[in-house]
Amino acid sequence: MSEAAGVIVVRGARRVFEQGRVVALDGVDLEVRAGEFVAITGPSGSGKSTLLNLMGAMDLPDEGEVTIDGTKLTDSRTLDRMRAEKIGFVFQMHNLISVLTARENVEIPLIGRDLPRSTRRKRAEELLGLVGLAERAGSTARGLSGGERQRVAIARAIANEPKIILADEPTGNLDTSTGDDVMRTIQDLRARTGAALVLVTHNEDLCECADRWVKMRDGHIEA
Ligand code: ADP
Ligand code: MG
Repeated sequence: MSEAAGVIVVRGARRVFEQGRVVALDGVDLEVRAGEFVAITGPSGSGKSTLLNLMGAMDLPDEGEVTIDGTKLTDSRTLDRMRAEKIGFVFQMHNLISVLTARENVEIPLIGRDLPRSTRRKRAEELLGLVGLAERAGSTARGLSGGERQRVAIARAIANEPKIILADEPTGNLDTSTGDDVMRTIQDLRARTGAALVLVTHNEDLCECADRWVKMRDGHIEA
């Protein structure tokens, strides 16, 4: 593991679907450094989610390699470990469990850890405080607004203090002002935690404040 290497290193990643008929990623190289904010844009179908899924240890490339914090992704065990220890993922759809409370949803990633229940609960409440939802901790997910749910999903994503936060169009299903609130929450947490942030977005204003702006087209990085 080289000191200079990024917290995520993607080398020559190729990913195909439908027996090779769909080439989602066609030899992508990308390195994200610790604490860096990288924005990714590109037309629908250009491979943004496929790339983010590789960087989030949710999938393996067909060719090439992905290294996360010095660990090369090789099999499902490595993927599971990297997801649990290094990565917080925020999806376009919040993916909360609707019958659980906000607090219980945030506790989920903490369950595998050897923590007393009361500590886990307290930690979840603190995380909800960080996203401005302390007073909603006991509400079920289905009783929350879209923006609130997405903020719960962010609290859940950072519960294990990941070095890497990945967000795939996290405001895509929200109105503009709610989306702006959610983005402020993500950026505020990134600043507090020093985590790297890779954000897929349509919002070019956000790209302007990123450290780097990556544009994708047809499974390639353009610029
Ligand atoms: P984006 O996020 O930029 O819209 P995606 O990464 O989702 O693009 O998709 C890139 C290409 O790969 C598209 O042609 C899409 O239809 C295809 N694709 C993505 N995931 C799958 C899958 N699981 N099975 C088949 N095709 C897929
Ligand atoms: Mg996508």
